[in-house]
Amino acid sequence: METLPISLKNTIISITLIFFITSKASSSEIISRFQEYLRINTAQPNPNYYEATDFILSQAKSLSLESQVIEFVNKKPLILLKWPGLNPDLPSILLNSHTDVVPVETHKWVHQPFAAHLDSNGDIFARGSQDMKCVGLQYLEAIRKLKESKFEPTRTIYLSFVPDEEIGGHDGAEKLADSDMFEKMNVAIVLDEGLASPGEKYRTFYAERSPMWTVIKATGAPGHGAKLYDNTAMENLLKSIESVRRFRASQFDMVKAGLKAEGEVISVNMAYLKAGTQSPTGFVMNMQPSEAEAGFDIRVPPTADQVALERRIAEEWAPASRNMTFEFKQKVSVLDKSGNPILTATDSSNPWWGLLEEAVRSAGGKLGKPEIFPASTDARYFRRKGLPAIGFSPMANTPILLHDHNEFLNQEEYVKGVDIYVSIIRAYASYKEETKPTAAKDEL
Ligand code: ZN
Repeated sequence: METLPISLKNTIISITLIFFITSKASSSEIISRFQEYLRINTAQPNPNYYEATDFILSQAKSLSLESQVIEFVNKKPLILLKWPGLNPDLPSILLNSHTDVVPVETHKWVHQPFAAHLDSNGDIFARGSQDMKCVGLQYLEAIRKLKESKFEPTRTIYLSFVPDEEIGGHDGAEKLADSDMFEKMNVAIVLDEGLASPGEKYRTFYAERSPMWTVIKATGAPGHGAKLYDNTAMENLLKSIESVRRFRASQFDMVKAGLKAEGEVISVNMAYLKAGTQSPTGFVMNMQPSEAEAGFDIRVPPTADQVALERRIAEEWAPASRNMTFEFKQKVSVLDKSGNPILTATDSSNPWWGLLEEAVRSAGGKLGKPEIFPASTDARYFRRKGLPAIGFSPMANTPILLHDHNEFLNQEEYVKGVDIYVSIIRAYASYKEETKPTAAKDEL
């Protein structure tokens, strides 16, 4: 700089300044659009879906994306946006996000959960800031940047904004994945939500655990509270609970010892216990009840032997020999219809995995080891179709606050995430190899 003439120096300074100001201005616009989306109250059980729909449609219009609103179920709009590719014959890319959020206990928040308050640290507080309005709008912001740079996708890109994920996704993503329309979209890869990472590495998810909600019941002869006798309902249930507790500890110990990640073990947690004989004044104390039951939330990774677990339930946790029965309130198979575990490959057999890794790296992001999502997301409906689906929410250096009070995301982290998606979408949309999903659709 020392050797440059003054006039050139000034020009460089003013160009730098203009660049700085415009990039500042555009990132403050990016943040205000995010805040606008966060301010729409889409909390279950009464999400304001139409306001969210209007907002997404207005964004789509400003980006000249094709749009369609579908109500597979009345009053539950699903928004589908399309950026047509130059080669529409190539299988497409689907960027999925859900528009609903979980409820809030407003009084436990330091800032109003639907005000999208930006504090002096740059943290934006709102329900949905992590789960997952951030991702939905980051996709759109990335597309805005790509369009501004005159990028043209080779493959068609779809964006789905789906309802009801937080209550199971049956009227949203599941209906979409099972529709004829989805078949016509000819999707090759789905991106969906992940989790925040407190460290510097982003987290990715290639599978998720399947719920196996189990109720075990014991019956036995009722008797006087003072009498000692065998095979009471309570005694039989207690033996089972002790057995479940040991199994739970064995799984948890592997996580504690760092041998397995949370998503790689079977989790078992007692959801309720029900027993006792009630009178108008409370439980009867001098009587042993004839029935007792307990409910367990069990989550099974696709890498576990679900059949062996069922056998364990039948033989150890609820054996008929102890007058016990069991039933599944919900049981989702960890295998697809061809008997393969439902998971997305994270090796060279799946080109989308390598493309994502490379795209994140080239945008300056770091990735941790791919994980199994500990709970459920909409990605399962697409994986079940035999499609690869990757769970990814670009939030590093961020505490995991989904479904928690004071959920927030830092604005810098959000803006960085937009650039990560620019890189991913560019790589995916430019990928020219003829790709078909790992499992052929016609097998299903
Ligand atoms: Zn979510």
